[in-house]
Amino acid sequence: MHSKQLSFTRPILFSLSGIFLSFVIIAVMIIIGMRREALDEYHDVNRNFVHNLAVNYTQSILHENDYVLNHAAAFFARDDQLNASVSGDREKGLKLLMQMLALIPSVSSISIANTGGDYLHAPQVMSSETVNASTRPWFVHQAEASMFNHYTQSYTDLLTGNPTVTIFKPVIAPDGKLKGTLAFHLDLASMGFTLRTVQSPMPGDFFIVDAEGKAILHPETGALFKTRISPALLAEMNSGEGQLYDKSSATWYYYYSFTHPEWFVIYKVSASTIDTRARHQSLLVGWGFTTAAVMIILFGLYLSHSARTVLINIINAIKTGDVEHAPRLEAMLSKAIESSKEREKTWVRQATMDALTNCKNRRAFDADTAALINDHQPFALALVDIDNFKSINDTWGHLNGDIVLRNVAREGIQIMQPQGISLYRYGGEEFAVIFPHAHIENALALLEQWRMNVANRTWREKDLAVTFSAGLGEWNMEPLNQLVARVDEALYKAKKQGKNRILRINHR
Ligand code: GH3
Ligand code: MG
Ligand code: MG
Repeated sequence: MHSKQLSFTRPILFSLSGIFLSFVIIAVMIIIGMRREALDEYHDVNRNFVHNLAVNYTQSILHENDYVLNHAAAFFARDDQLNASVSGDREKGLKLLMQMLALIPSVSSISIANTGGDYLHAPQVMSSETVNASTRPWFVHQAEASMFNHYTQSYTDLLTGNPTVTIFKPVIAPDGKLKGTLAFHLDLASMGFTLRTVQSPMPGDFFIVDAEGKAILHPETGALFKTRISPALLAEMNSGEGQLYDKSSATWYYYYSFTHPEWFVIYKVSASTIDTRARHQSLLVGWGFTTAAVMIILFGLYLSHSARTVLINIINAIKTGDVEHAPRLEAMLSKAIESSKEREKTWVRQATMDALTNCKNRRAFDADTAALINDHQPFALALVDIDNFKSINDTWGHLNGDIVLRNVAREGIQIMQPQGISLYRYGGEEFAVIFPHAHIENALALLEQWRMNVANRTWREKDLAVTFSAGLGEWNMEPLNQLVARVDEALYKAKKQGKNRILRINHR
């Protein structure tokens, strides 16, 4: 019969389940947190890549071109240099343009045109008469003249047949008159080509598009001017730089936008590429946690099993009092068992001993005689009564009376105990002695020795003399009270005959 409250393994298994559950929750939270952190980190890296591509690469090229264009325009504005080159000494003008071209590697050709549409193109590709510059997208008409640089949309150069974007600036004389246009035609193919040497942090496409989503710069020349990104998506890229997710294509876009020209640096990475990387990281940690979880379960089962065994051993130890084979579990436990055994012994002694005289008590007398009678073991009984004890008490005080009692008992114990004979305090100043079968013969002699020792003893109190009288009789298979009555009668006779003597009753 065992109740649920006494079940030992239940609370252990219960606690372990709690630990296991907490562990799983912590593990899941850590893995989710790690995944999120890894994703954030990848996004950061990708945004940085776009930022660097925009600022360190694209913007520096644009600034360089702007700088040269501004200075060249200022040069052609002075002293009517522009008309001198276009309409005057064209050879000299062409040479000037070629020197300029050598300074700016990302520009493939330069055009200058006067307000009439006459123009000079370096390097020279075809006869200048066939084309009027005023039809070109970079030509500045009087009405459009301003001090700023302009970018055309991407278009195919009529002269070279190459895809290009032109950066141009009105040439305005110090007196404010428009003299013509200076235009740099960018070499988009070779500019884009250098993008091939750029390494992206993870597999994906990166390129630069104009406001319509058409590629301006792209590592592959064939992709130029093709729409790489929908204008709708571009419209969402409205904050300087950042990232956005396109659900329909499951793609992350990282972008950086310029305002002048209105270009966008784009880096697109498919969501699955990023997820795979993040998952790979959390998978490793996940396996670690799984292994730990399995270990928790195994150790838990071991704990609940061994706890049972330990408990069984403890119970056995408590039952047998055998601390030698008690589980080493706790020395304390062994001690507890030992001291509980020790206490038990003390209780037994206290229950059967008389504290004042160190004899056995009346209860023990009753038990011992009952056992002998029950087993039909022959024995002899003596009853001993101190003579004139009342007057000893009266003369020397009750405390001294106690001392006399203890010393009379000690004399008796010293004689009887070595023989294995028990002494009992039968009443106030009365003792009983039980002589087992082997000592019936010399019972009288032993009692006599005791009586002599007491009578001859010198006490601390000068005039104190102590004697006792005793009755002795053998058990005759009668009930105990009859035996006691007979022996008591012998004691009474001894008193009557003058005390300090022992009377043995005859066998019936
Ligand atoms: P008798 O020789 O006839 O035995 O004379 P007695 O004085 O011994 O007579 P009795 O047996 O009537 O008196 C026993 C006295 O012993 C009574 C009681 O005051 C005293 N007494 C009993 N138990 C104790 C004890 O434990 N300590 C002390 N000091 N005195 C006790
Ligand atoms: Mg008495
Ligand atoms: Mg007495």
